[in-house]
Amino acid sequence: MLTRQRNYSSDVVVIGGGAMGASVAYWLKDKTVGSKKDLRVVVIEKDPTYSCCSTSLSVGGIRQQFSVPENIQMSLFGASFIKNIKSKFGPEADISFMPNGYLILASENGAQRLSNNFKLQQQLGATNRLFTKQQLKKRFAWLNVDDIELGCCGGENEGWFDPWGLLSLLRSGASSKGAEFIQGEAVDFVFGANGELRGVVVKLPNNEQKTISFEHCVITAGAESGKIAKLARIGSDDLSTPLPVEKRKRYVYRFDSQGDNPPEINSPLMIDYTGVYFRRDGGSYIGGLSPKPEEEPETNNLDVDFDFFDNRVWPLLAHRIPAFQSVKVKSAWGGFYEYNCFDANGVIGPHPGHSNLYFATGFSGHGIQQSPAAGLAIAELIVDGAFKTIDLTRMGFDRLITHKPLYEIGIY
Ligand SMILES: Cc1cc2nc3c(=O)[nH]c(=O)nc-3n(C[C@H](O)[C@H](O)[C@H](O)COP(=O)(O)OP(=O)(O)OC[C@H]3O[C@@H](n4cnc5c(N)ncnc54)[C@H](O)[C@@H]3O)c2cc1C
Repeated sequence: MLTRQRNYSSDVVVIGGGAMGASVAYWLKDKTVGSKKDLRVVVIEKDPTYSCCSTSLSVGGIRQQFSVPENIQMSLFGASFIKNIKSKFGPEADISFMPNGYLILASENGAQRLSNNFKLQQQLGATNRLFTKQQLKKRFAWLNVDDIELGCCGGENEGWFDPWGLLSLLRSGASSKGAEFIQGEAVDFVFGANGELRGVVVKLPNNEQKTISFEHCVITAGAESGKIAKLARIGSDDLSTPLPVEKRKRYVYRFDSQGDNPPEINSPLMIDYTGVYFRRDGGSYIGGLSPKPEEEPETNNLDVDFDFFDNRVWPLLAHRIPAFQSVKVKSAWGGFYEYNCFDANGVIGPHPGHSNLYFATGFSGHGIQQSPAAGLAIAELIVDGAFKTIDLTRMGFDRLITHKPLYEIGIY
């Protein structure tokens, strides 16, 4: 349709059609279709194969083990959304949710923090449980607890699911309610006489450029979001605070254990106090570790560094799980976090200078589980003018300007 028209307009343009953009489109249509407020929603996605996007390359974990209340609330909402997926998308809908929980481990130094986080999570409705060193040893026979003081293990709302499955359902759900997905790349914005945002310039696959005018625009371009915000002049002149969302490459290694007494088939996703993690992946395991700032790899490709496994990941895994002293790496992949360099948490809400421009990005490794809640939050802002389900005011762009970071404490 776009190629036949010179100009095109939409109530809402969403830039980036990964899980976050598809969720925004899904909820916008869900809230308005069939009503007087029915909104025209266009999602612009430059790569409909989704080969390099964060969503496709994610590990798909969901947990309530955070220390920022909004993150706990969003992930509880995500768990409920996932568990009720059939009621939303029909009896065939399946995203292979494995409710095995997360097991987060603390040394003596981190035990008090873990315990404080646990209390907050409980207050907000999480069903986690604390394990002492002795209880951990009894419950998880494969675990070396020598330097562990406390563990927290999630209940039925934690585990992992198929991220591609979630994206597919959100996308088809949005389309079936009338949202349009267009293949193209947002390359510029159109501004009005007073600098207000009026439209987006889209480069189509045939290299033609078209303008789509809009009432509202949402940036959900994952690791490219900082670049798109720059096109909207965010970070220059009187909008001097940039959107600090950048690519950070993370490796995921798939391996088999060749040792005795390996973690059983229903073992949780374990995160050690060193940051190393693993979970079951069918008959194998997957795991990894975020690099230190000085180790951050280049981001111009998705190549995998196998030395990083040998030198950094494996020694930590082998210490924590003796059965992993002998492992064989079978495959690996790299993916980009859409990393918020300010405080490693999502930026959700409008820009204070462009009142019709919204963000849902910067989730830094938490975004797939938070996509149902964050998409609904943006739809509420646009349709209802306020957050209705979860108050995410503190997660807005304003905190970047007022220097009020929302750091996770004791959470990887
Ligand atoms: C290795 C790895 C493991 C992870 N593990 C977890 C986990 O266990 N749990 C969890 O919750 N999260 C996890 N994440 C994070 C999660 O995957 C992301 O937070 C989430 O998928 C972000 O979704 P998104 O839609 O914002 O971004 P993306 O999925 O990257 O989608 C953005 C889309 O925007 C498009 N785009 C970019 N620029 C333009 C443009 N100019 N014009 C048009 N389209 C554009 C891109 O093509 C892309 O498809 C992980 C991420 C990685 C990389």
